Amino acid sequence: MKAIHLNNRPVGTPQLSDFKFETEEQPHITTGEMLLKAIYLSVDPYLRGRMNEGKSYIEPFELNKAMSSGMIAEVVESKLDGFSKGDFVSGMLEWKEYQASNGEGLMKVDGSMAHLSAYLGVLGMTGLTAYMGLIEIGKPKAGETVVVSGAAGAVGSVVGQIAKLLGCRVVGIAGTDEKVAQLKAEYGFDAAINYKTTENMSHAIADACPDGVDVYFDNVGGEVSDGVMLNVNRFARIIVCGAISLYNATTMPMGPRVQPILIKNSVLMQGFIIFNYMEKFAEAIPQLAQWLQEGKLTSTETIVEGFENTPQAFLDLFEGRNKGKMIVKI
Ligand code: NDP
Repeated sequence: MKAIHLNNRPVGTPQLSDFKFETEEQPHITTGEMLLKAIYLSVDPYLRGRMNEGKSYIEPFELNKAMSSGMIAEVVESKLDGFSKGDFVSGMLEWKEYQASNGEGLMKVDGSMAHLSAYLGVLGMTGLTAYMGLIEIGKPKAGETVVVSGAAGAVGSVVGQIAKLLGCRVVGIAGTDEKVAQLKAEYGFDAAINYKTTENMSHAIADACPDGVDVYFDNVGGEVSDGVMLNVNRFARIIVCGAISLYNATTMPMGPRVQPILIKNSVLMQGFIIFNYMEKFAEAIPQLAQWLQEGKLTSTETIVEGFENTPQAFLDLFEGRNKGKMIVKI
């Protein structure tokens, strides 16, 4: 069977040569273990940080060892109480076609409730990130203006749709005209901006938000966010979820200093990690599932076929080649 190892620690933009395919023996399980077959694998921008050396909020990947991420796997053999052949599980797993597990950190998922891949997206880490960040930090009120960057991606597309469900005016920022059209037509955003063809982001935000910005859900950081910051209202809330525009930077670009803006407008700006809200997942997942079942929430996924295409799928996140959640079908 195949496994994907970290071959090099990238400097700047990662390359295919930073990953290495290894052939390994398929593991045999002992009592208290189960054998898992990988079905779906999540590639996520935060994995870029784990390719660097040095501790962050999550351990770095080790060189010449298998990488890992959120995955859905099928139990193909079990000597572990509570798990049977044919069950599906979700959790952090290694990038291997087969692996043994003692079940730690894994949860059973039900393919009849929602499509299995949804547990990596709208009902998984990215959907929860959207829900928790927007509701717990953004605290949007009906009638307020919510701006979201990375709006056509996994987190952003859910943020915008939830904000619409809560009665907000929603403005999305994304990187192609096709995505901009999708935000309005499929998700009901009130306005959308292509940051790649917009010369002055601050003016574009001012045009799209005649009443200013009350909540900014930031997935990208950098110049896009500089433009939004110049349009925030008094008591605005800025949710610092991600900064993908900076993940490959070798030197940090300097933007406008935000302190005067925050002080003058009494703005809250807060970063967060989704795992801060773990105790609230049990209430968030049924709500997301209900919206999904009622057709109030659209789940978009870009499914790449084949384990061998995992590294390219990851690299494609930085080129904006995904719409919604980027998932590899093994
Ligand atoms: P996405 O599905 O949004 O994929 C990444 C998208 O980022 C691409 O499709 C691309 O869209 C956009 N992008 C890539 N490069 C740039 C750039 N230089 N400037 C602006 N946009 C860019 O990923 P996720 O939804 O999984 O994650 C979104 C953000 O949220 C990431 O920054 C991620 O790290 C963060 N995150 C944070 C979590 C937390 O706990 N705080 C948890 C999960 C995610 P486009 O075509 O529009 O450029």
